[in-house]
Amino acid sequence: MHLDVASLLIAVTLTLLTAAATLLAVMGKVDLPARRAQTGIVLQALGWVLLMTSGLVVPGALADRVLSTLSMASIAAGLGCSAVAFDLWCGRPPAARMPALLAVVMTLGYSIGFGDYAFRVGWANGLLSVQLALVVIALCRPMPHPVGRWRWLLVTSLLVQTAVTASRGVLGAFFTELFPNFFAPHPANELFALATIVTVVMGLVGILLAHREEVARELERLAHTDGITGVLNRRAWMTHAELLAADAHRQDKPLCLLLLDLDHFKQINDTYGHETGDRALKLFADGMQAVGLEHNLVCRYGGEEFCVLKHDVGLAAMRAYDQRLRAWLAEAGPRQLGVSLGYSGGIALLLDGADTVDAMLRRADALLYSAKMLGRNRTLDEETLAVGVEIK
Ligand code: GH3
Ligand code: MG
Ligand code: MG
Repeated sequence: MHLDVASLLIAVTLTLLTAAATLLAVMGKVDLPARRAQTGIVLQALGWVLLMTSGLVVPGALADRVLSTLSMASIAAGLGCSAVAFDLWCGRPPAARMPALLAVVMTLGYSIGFGDYAFRVGWANGLLSVQLALVVIALCRPMPHPVGRWRWLLVTSLLVQTAVTASRGVLGAFFTELFPNFFAPHPANELFALATIVTVVMGLVGILLAHREEVARELERLAHTDGITGVLNRRAWMTHAELLAADAHRQDKPLCLLLLDLDHFKQINDTYGHETGDRALKLFADGMQAVGLEHNLVCRYGGEEFCVLKHDVGLAAMRAYDQRLRAWLAEAGPRQLGVSLGYSGGIALLLDGADTVDAMLRRADALLYSAKMLGRNRTLDEETLAVGVEIK
């Protein structure tokens, strides 16, 4: 069977163009990592189109130099964008500086040394393979959160690309007579083209899987959190809270719950509008987290009611938390919102025996109701002691 290098290289370019068009067409509206991956593959496809076009002009002429240099820049920049996407999908801040630096250094060196074939092939392929190897290393490092098998698909694809790119560099730099140019009928060129087609397909599948995993993670997060405040919703909070209650019973440790309801919240909506009302809810939830220290499970229980559960702490710690929250709100409400926010609360402790989170919530709700009846802006606990201070 005869393999024709020019046809294979056209197939590589078409495969990359198809992959780029497919990603743009099927992914729809995407966020940053997928956008970087799309840009990465579009730039690589563009690089290959430029490379193929450079084969149509007089070798060594200005047009060849310009097209080839732009091609190398595009391929290296594309690789840099892909590296950023993979970092983000792995849950890490993107390390964009090194890939960008390599892309710039490679392109400059390539452009300056274009006249020397051995140098430019060795230089460009050498630095591209370093860029590829760095992406492989980043993908092999321990991940901040679990990632799927797409990681190994990308690692395999990138390792193959690193190997063929590095060997092209070595052949071009040190065995130049065996490897006269990119389109020459040489087994290395055939192998390179075939490997590139395979790795583009693997890369495309890897990118789609990584994107799907990210979407699934985001959906799971949305299912657990409240859209306005960003804290847990009641259903997710109950699941965690019941586990904490079971642990507290088993280990005979304290567990304490505070149920809160904003005072006269309807008036805030009526006076300042629902948007300010929403911002007040967010501010309140931020405060609940800001003053929380550790062991703090916060949720939006519903409407303008919030709940915090603390494990390993008793009544005194929850009272102190309540005081800190009131002080925080007294300062942050007027400053950030132009509105004074007050709340009433009820504290319940986990009792020995068969006490449950539901029962704690009922007791806290009864105390909260009493706090409202007593004039609001206070918190009551099961010793029926008002621990809230009036903050005007
Ligand atoms: P009280 O001191 O007795 O608790 O009075 P209140 O006005 O806070 O209580 P009420 O139950 O009369 O009203 C609660 C208000 O909370 C009414 C409702 O429109 C508002 N609310 C509930 N959820 C949201 C929300 O997501 N955004 C906004 N902006 N308002 C909300
Ligand atoms: Mg209220
Ligand atoms: Mg209410």
